Amino acid sequence: MLEDVLYLSKKLIKLPSISPLDLGCQKILSKRLQKIGFFIENIKINNTNNLWAYKGQGGKTLTFLGHTDVVPPGNINDWKTDPFYPIIKDNFLFGRGSADMKCSLSAMIVATESFLKNFTNFNGRISFLITSDEESFGHDGTKKIIKILKNRNEKIDYCLVGEPTSDVHVGDVIKNGRRGSISAKIIFYGVQGHIAYPHLATNPIHNSLYAIKNFVNLKLDLGNNFFQPSSLQIFYISSGNKNITNMIPGSMKVGLNIRYSTEISKEIIVMKIKKILDKCSLKYEINWIFSGKPFITNSGFLLETVQKSIFQVNKFFPKLSTSGGTSDGRFLTCMNSEIIELGLVNKTIHKANECVNINDLYKLSKIYINILKNLFI
Ligand SMILES: [Zn+2]
Repeated sequence: MLEDVLYLSKKLIKLPSISPLDLGCQKILSKRLQKIGFFIENIKINNTNNLWAYKGQGGKTLTFLGHTDVVPPGNINDWKTDPFYPIIKDNFLFGRGSADMKCSLSAMIVATESFLKNFTNFNGRISFLITSDEESFGHDGTKKIIKILKNRNEKIDYCLVGEPTSDVHVGDVIKNGRRGSISAKIIFYGVQGHIAYPHLATNPIHNSLYAIKNFVNLKLDLGNNFFQPSSLQIFYISSGNKNITNMIPGSMKVGLNIRYSTEISKEIIVMKIKKILDKCSLKYEINWIFSGKPFITNSGFLLETVQKSIFQVNKFFPKLSTSGGTSDGRFLTCMNSEIIELGLVNKTIHKANECVNINDLYKLSKIYINILKNLFI
């Protein structure tokens, strides 16, 4: 089994599918799935390739969710190997996308093949939803496919996301939820003028400091058993005036991002930010970008099954976590799916020399097989 997972992983890593490109990865996966009787649908939206595939009928639907795109390699000189020429060294498979998440995709496919070899009749439906637009904007990927599926009255009961969730060993941490994310881009308007005549100008930097200080001190909530307290971080401040030392700038831009728990809604966050802005003496403009609501799967059959399946292989239970960024799992909340994320160790993701431990890859395949057995047999 391991040889087969490695073979498929290497094939995928060789294709430099920098987001949102797929470059044939999904074709390779489709072929494998077609061979074992899956119905295949390739849905291209703009530059994004999406694959929806399923097999079985009746019972509950499990969807393996993943992506074939990868982030760019960054500075090539930082790599010890060619990022798109997979190499095994000291029991690790190196290559861009190995951990995030081409090896997980391979493990999902090989696990499904192995499961179907042993159990031709199973009570349920196995499906795959794979996109090439996870690492960039996420506009034309999972979000749109879920909309299409919802319009067809498709139902996904269980969603298993293959993102790299593990900390030190595969299966030591799984994500059973994610925080929500909202960004705001604010422009404060002052009055431009000569720096020697401040009474004829309004300095937007000075006058927005009150608001900025209040953003930093804003307590949104205390978190709960599943989420840490919501956090606001400023990621950008600029008046655009870097070099002109005798000019008070006319405006200033501020960017902020809020990662929030289930204790607060986006409406309340918007209201709190607006309240601070309205107390500021400057005119302002604000643009909101809503990336995703928080979600949590704190109980249910999928969570129990994943925990049990990990224990059967590792002899220890995983830690539950909701930390880290958002994932495409957030798009499944509109189907009321149970969503759990389980993948490889995330230590090297998005870094030079991205790699996965080969033993972990073998174990992950076995855990995925156990999940299928424990769910459907
Ligand atoms: Zn990923």
